[in-house]
Amino acid sequence: DSSSISIAEYDKEQLFDGLLTSGLDQASCISKVQSHLYCKASPSPHKPSPYLISKLRSYEKLHKRCGINSRDYNINVKKIVHSKNINRAAAASMCKYLVLKPCNGLGNQMITTAATFLYAILTDRVLLIRFDKESMAYSSDQYFVPSLFMNPSFNLEITKMFLYHLGRYLFLPSYEASKLIRRFYETYLAKEDEMIGFQIRVFIPDSVPQQVAMDLVLSCTLKNKLLPKIDTQNSVSSPTRKSGTLKAVLVASLYPENGENLKAMYLNKPTVSGELIEVYQLRHEEHQNFGDNKNSMKAWTEMYLLSLSDVLVATSLSTFGYAAQGLGG
Ligand code: GDP
Repeated sequence: DSSSISIAEYDKEQLFDGLLTSGLDQASCISKVQSHLYCKASPSPHKPSPYLISKLRSYEKLHKRCGINSRDYNINVKKIVHSKNINRAAAASMCKYLVLKPCNGLGNQMITTAATFLYAILTDRVLLIRFDKESMAYSSDQYFVPSLFMNPSFNLEITKMFLYHLGRYLFLPSYEASKLIRRFYETYLAKEDEMIGFQIRVFIPDSVPQQVAMDLVLSCTLKNKLLPKIDTQNSVSSPTRKSGTLKAVLVASLYPENGENLKAMYLNKPTVSGELIEVYQLRHEEHQNFGDNKNSMKAWTEMYLLSLSDVLVATSLSTFGYAAQGLGG
């Protein structure tokens, strides 16, 4: 209920405690400045350090001065392309760039972008990203931040910049993605008392059947009392909200049967705790697609919704799940 929040507090929340600049064009970036509205844990309990905020503001100035199509960019790129040798004095006054070509799946692209952005900040470079197939650029899908800690000249600086904040700073929904997020959130999730995210990723379905992975996730969830067991002793024809809290389970998986089986388990059945469980699965591709924008946007929508969960249960080794967990803080 934003009416109970003072204007100053509201602005602070909107801008993620100062992570986003107050100069953001609110009319054109409406989906970005509204994205905090879906977070139940808003304002975030994690605060960005003043040091990180000052580094981001300096970076923005540098990006504005040297970014694509700026006057400095046009001058510098010509020099870089045409000069064989640029002497030290000339180089010192020029803009420096780091050109990244993120590769593989969405989660991998995001973690490598965050890591590369951090490296760009640490070395006063402007980060440019190329998505075309043919580019000469630095290509990566790795999160190499731990190795930056090993460099003594970076170590001190990085500890002042908690990485969860870089994700919140860099990855905000586009207008199109935000429409999908809002529609799904408002239709299914806004009314729930609690939301549990399931992310089930099976890399080699021939050796680990989907059902085995799902059973593992479910038994972990029941054991930790995140979801209630079905009450087999008492039967209620159709459980009502009055009798208990409403929990939504959002299942993210490339396979529809994961969500369908869980849905069938809870459908019209009472639970021992009296809680009502509703299960949703957004979509399923049954295979991973690389470099397809529409597919990436849908994957991003799903990852973003997962990041809003009160509790996230994920199978191991998937960057998709790690990225959702990182964004959720
Ligand atoms: P990883 O391969 O699991 O480590 O994670 P990545 O995100 O790097 O790559 C997986 C790709 O497969 C993503 O870009 C998606 O296209 C797709 N994918 C995998 N799991 C899911 C899922 O649960 N939902 C959706 N929408 N896409 C998924």
